[in-house]
Amino acid sequence: MSRPSVEPRLPSWWLEDALAREGNPEPAPALTGDATADVAIVGGGYTGLWTALALRERAPELRVTLLEAEICGHGPSGRNGGFVHGYWASLPGILPVLGEAQALELARAGEQIIPGIRTWAEERGEDIWLREAGMLEVSAAPAQDGGIENAVVAAARVGRPDQAVPLTPEAVAERVSSPVFRDGVFFPECATVHPGLLVRALRRAALDAGVTLHEGTPVTAVREGELETPGGILRAPEVVLATNAALTGWKPASHNLTNFGSYVVLTEPAPDLLAEIGWTGGEAIIDGRMFLHYFRTTNDGRVLMGSGTGPIGFGGSIDDRFSRDGPTAARAEAGLRRLLPGLAGVRVERAWGGPIDVSADHLPFFRTKPGTRIHYGAGYSGHGVGPAWLGGRILASLALGADDEWTRSPLAARSVPRLPGEPFRRVGGGLVRWAIMSCEAAEEQGRRPPVVARAAAALPRLLGMELGTR
Ligand SMILES: Cc1cc2nc3c(=O)[nH]c(=O)nc-3n(C[C@H](O)[C@H](O)[C@H](O)COP(=O)(O)OP(=O)(O)OC[C@H]3O[C@@H](n4cnc5c(N)ncnc54)[C@H](O)[C@@H]3O)c2cc1C
Repeated sequence: MSRPSVEPRLPSWWLEDALAREGNPEPAPALTGDATADVAIVGGGYTGLWTALALRERAPELRVTLLEAEICGHGPSGRNGGFVHGYWASLPGILPVLGEAQALELARAGEQIIPGIRTWAEERGEDIWLREAGMLEVSAAPAQDGGIENAVVAAARVGRPDQAVPLTPEAVAERVSSPVFRDGVFFPECATVHPGLLVRALRRAALDAGVTLHEGTPVTAVREGELETPGGILRAPEVVLATNAALTGWKPASHNLTNFGSYVVLTEPAPDLLAEIGWTGGEAIIDGRMFLHYFRTTNDGRVLMGSGTGPIGFGGSIDDRFSRDGPTAARAEAGLRRLLPGLAGVRVERAWGGPIDVSADHLPFFRTKPGTRIHYGAGYSGHGVGPAWLGGRILASLALGADDEWTRSPLAARSVPRLPGEPFRRVGGGLVRWAIMSCEAAEEQGRRPPVVARAAAALPRLLGMELGTR
C-alpha cells in the first residue's frame, strides 16, 4: 500500500472540529506598526501558550505579547495524537541519558502534568476530552517482546513497579483484542485529550489573562530585544522562541535538533466494533516499534492511528514532506489494518501529518542563548503534549531570571549531544530511517532483517543518539 485511502491534508480534523465549535472565529489581528512588550513570545502552540499563562500568573505586571505565524494550533499542537504523559513510560530511554537520580527527578516532575492540566481545565470549565485511562504498550512481533520487559525491569529497578505493570497476552486481550498482540505493559500515567480543544482553550485562557496576541504574524528575524515581522517590529527585553520544529533552522538550536514527519489516519465513528474488540476503556496504545504506531479512541468512537515513519527534514525547512506525504499516511493506515483487523470494514475519513522535533538524546531542552535574553525550547521528540506544560514553566522562569525548581530541571540544566551538520544529517538520518523501517517490517513478517539494515539501524545508539521515533 503506497497511497492511503484519503490523501493527507491540513487542517487536521482536531483543529477543524475545535474551530467549528467556536463558530470559526476570525484570527487575532496581525501586528501592524511597531510595538513594545516586557516579554515577547513567538509560537502559539502548547509551549508558547503555557509560557504566556505562567508569566501572567507569576508576574501579572508584565506585558506579554505572543506572535503566531498562522493561528494558534496550526502546528503540531493542533495535529497530534493527544497522548498526554510525563516520563514514567520513557524510563528505559531516559535512565542511560540522565542517570538514575535525574531520571527519577524528571519522572516525578512529570507526575504534575496530568493533574495540572485537569485542574486548569476544570477551573476554566473547559471540556478538552481529557480521559485518564493509562497507556498500553503491546508487543506486535517477537522482536518487540524485549521492549516490554525493559519497561517493566526499569520501573522495578527504581522502586516504582506500579508505573509499568506487565500484562500477559490474556490480560492485554481483556483490554483490546487483536490476533497480533502478544505481551504488554500498562503505564497508568497517561491520558488522552482532544488536542484541538486543548490548544484553543489555552488560547482563550491567554486572552482572558491579558496576553496580547497577534496571529498571521510570522517572525522573520530574531535579534536581541527585537523581533521583525512583515507588519512591524516588536521590541521586548525578554524574548521566548516557542516555535518547535522551526527552531531546527535556527542557530544555536540547530546543532541539537532534526525533524522527522509523523502522520495519522482517523476513522469514521465505529463504537459498536470497538465494543466487539473490547476496546472501550479509553486506553492509549503504542506498539513496540522504534518508529512506533500510536493509537487511541475518541469520545465519538473513532480510532486515530499514527505512524512515526515520516520523512526526515533538511536544513530545518518545514515543507510539504511534513504535511503531504501520502506513503507515510499509507503506512499509518496499513498499521491500522494489521494491528486492529477487527475494524477491517471501518472507513478512514481523514489523514494529516506534521513535523517532530527530535533531539539527539530524545529529550526536550530549554535554554537561554549565551550572552542574550533570548530563551528557547524544543526537542520534544514526538512527546510534547504533556511536557510542554513543564516547558512553559521552565521558559517562564528563564524569562523571569529565576533560579528555581524549573531552571534546575534536567530539561534545562543538562548538556545535549550535538548532531552532525548537513548534508550528513539528512543522508545519515535517511539511511538510519530506511534501515530501521526495513528491520521492523521484516520482524513483523517473521523474516530475519537484512544484515546491512541491521548494521545501519544500530548506528545512532553506537554514536550515543536516540534518533528515529515518533
Ligand atoms: C502527527 C503528530 C502526532 C503527535 N502525537 C503526539 C502525542 O500523541 N503525544 C505527544 O506528547 N506528542 C505528540 N506529538 C508532538 C506534539 O504535538 C508536539 O511536541 C507539541 O505540540 C509541541 O508544541 P509546541 O507548542 O512546542 O509547538 P507547535 O505546536 O509546533 O507550535 C509552534 C508554533 O509556532 C509557530 N511558528 C513557527 N515559526 C514561526 C515564526 N517564524 N513566527 C511566528 N510563529 C511561528 C507555528 O505556526 C506553530 O503554531 C505529535 C506530533 C505530530 C506531528
